[in-house]
Amino acid sequence: MKIAIISLQGAFTEHADLLKKASKQLNLNCAITLAKTKKDLDSAKGIIIPGGESTTINKLLKETGLDKEIIHLAKKDIPILATCAGMIIISSSGDAQCKKTGKLLGLIGMTVNRNAFGTQKHSFEKELDVKGIGRLNAIFIRAPAVTKIDDPDAQILTRVDEKIVAVKKKNIMALAFHPELTENTLIHKWFLKSAAKTPDN
Ligand code: GLN
Repeated sequence: MKIAIISLQGAFTEHADLLKKASKQLNLNCAITLAKTKKDLDSAKGIIIPGGESTTINKLLKETGLDKEIIHLAKKDIPILATCAGMIIISSSGDAQCKKTGKLLGLIGMTVNRNAFGTQKHSFEKELDVKGIGRLNAIFIRAPAVTKIDDPDAQILTRVDEKIVAVKKKNIMALAFHPELTENTLIHKWFLKSAAKTPDN
């Protein structure tokens, strides 16, 4: 099965490495495409939008037309895992700092605070219980947080200090932290299992 990782900027190779590890553990045959064009999403059974710089990634998504294709595939219930900058990009609205990020994709009806935990030097790690996934060590780097959810299908998976840092809507998961910077495959296994269940697009 084909998994596309949006590879315009940010931590895409780290996602590829952890996906390989997760697919071995699940004994699933997974072909990873580092997607840079619309065509790279053809017949993908799942899409990962990595962390990085949300302004840069969002601008490149628009330039390549990948933004429209992702919205189209999300409507078909293709699983999407969006981490950190990815969480910002798939939200429907954001705080003043998100103005620079440009129009968001709106895959989940929610509002984000772009740098909810401060700057790079305020990066931290925390053990979290993620609903439906399990316990994991989460790494936060200039992390966003969700301040408001308007989507009736969206579910909060976990919080840090009252701040919402993981949300799921059907096959779409948005995380404020970076699972790909750890060795823990729980999130990637959830994603691969969802992709395996999804009919071809
Ligand atoms: N807050 C950053 C941004 O707005 C995202 C940080 C990250 O992906 N590590 O782009």
